[in-house]
Amino acid sequence: MNEDTQLLDAIDRWVERSVRPAVREFDHADRYPAALVDEMRELGLFGATISPEYGGLGLSAATYARIVMRIAAVWMALTGIFNSHLMLALAIEKFGTRAQKARWLPKLASGEIRGGLALTEPDAGTDLQAIRMTARRDGGHYVVNGTKTWISNGIEGSCFALLVKTDPQAEPRHRGMSLFIAPKAMGFSVGRKLEKLGYKSIDSAELAFENYRVPADHLIGEVEGQGFYQVAGGLELGRINVAARGVGVAEGALELATRYAQQRHTFGKPIAEHQAIQLKLADMATRARAARLLTLDAAAAFDRGERCDLEAGMAKYFASEAALENSTEALRIHGAYGYSKEYDIERLYRDAPLLCIGEGTNEMQRIIIARQLVARNPA
Ligand SMILES: Cc1cc2nc3c(=O)[nH]c(=O)nc-3n(C[C@H](O)[C@H](O)[C@H](O)COP(=O)(O)OP(=O)(O)OC[C@H]3O[C@@H](n4cnc5c(N)ncnc54)[C@H](O)[C@@H]3O)c2cc1C
Repeated sequence: MNEDTQLLDAIDRWVERSVRPAVREFDHADRYPAALVDEMRELGLFGATISPEYGGLGLSAATYARIVMRIAAVWMALTGIFNSHLMLALAIEKFGTRAQKARWLPKLASGEIRGGLALTEPDAGTDLQAIRMTARRDGGHYVVNGTKTWISNGIEGSCFALLVKTDPQAEPRHRGMSLFIAPKAMGFSVGRKLEKLGYKSIDSAELAFENYRVPADHLIGEVEGQGFYQVAGGLELGRINVAARGVGVAEGALELATRYAQQRHTFGKPIAEHQAIQLKLADMATRARAARLLTLDAAAAFDRGERCDLEAGMAKYFASEAALENSTEALRIHGAYGYSKEYDIERLYRDAPLLCIGEGTNEMQRIIIARQLVARNPA
């Protein structure tokens, strides 16, 4: 048995032992699962994709995606606690200076420092180049002002990759954007925990910066104007992450529906024997399988070092829609019990829509896929 298989088995055992029995209570109370986060640290999840030379597990995208699928099949929100943390680590490992990597990556890999990615603002999500947060150079520091919103791990995390404008007048706009490593300190305050439809327990928050002074050596790569490019550099892996979450939800919903359809009887037989239910189950199984294969195909291309924006975009788009459709169909198969908080399917149904919004909305995903298609196939 190789190391990756051993790790996947350990994840499976942990999910069954610690996550499945606890998920409904945490989700309904919208309570942060601190004890599970400690166990995730022990499993090495906060260093999953960080190189071993910095104390991480150095997993391939394919193995990482399989881990995310397994956890998300039971509790998708849990994967958000380490997903966006790893995007912060990726930006440092890919674009940071040697000193930045040595300083930050070991602590991120161990989970001693946990954090995320702070890009979105109240008036700018899809159109990231419209952000208004500024960072003005002042001697050995930059002075940051502005507001971020919807930031995952905003309350529990202590350090974020923060996208700002170092030159608000630059044209094209992305040339004026820079990415900082921003630990919590004076001038960096956290607003309330945002109330959400689903994706409970993980904290989504507004972050306010008022004359926050960040040392100049926290600018990733120590060159201004690279921020947009550095964020885009994480998009392929980010989309594979979200696709894997979608696969997990789509498969989790299928599993719940398949079990329920054999237990519930109407007109003298299990509902699994009614053709209308069979058609649903067949569609769900096919969607889940297709989503898995698209995601593993994108991950394999990523691991071979190939450009995979088209493949990762297709996987993200298809798998997140599969999660939404499968959770809806599974809820319907459960009848009234699907609408009950005593059954798990209602959580998957509330969690799924986020996957169509985050990491590039699916509307944008389709536009990106079409543009790539044309660019790769000139007439
Ligand atoms: C639970 C949650 C967690 C999040 N976590 C984070 C996080 O950790 N860090 C972070 O930075 N952000 C985070 N986000 C924000 C998320 O990335 C944004 O919500 C997302 O990028 C969409 O931006 P928006 O909400 O501003 O929508 P908008 O950009 O306002 O878009 C609104 C609608 O218009 C469509 N649209 C926009 N432009 C176009 C176009 N050119 N063509 C066609 N359609 C278009 C969109 O597809 C969408 O349907 C999170 C969001 C949520 C809900």
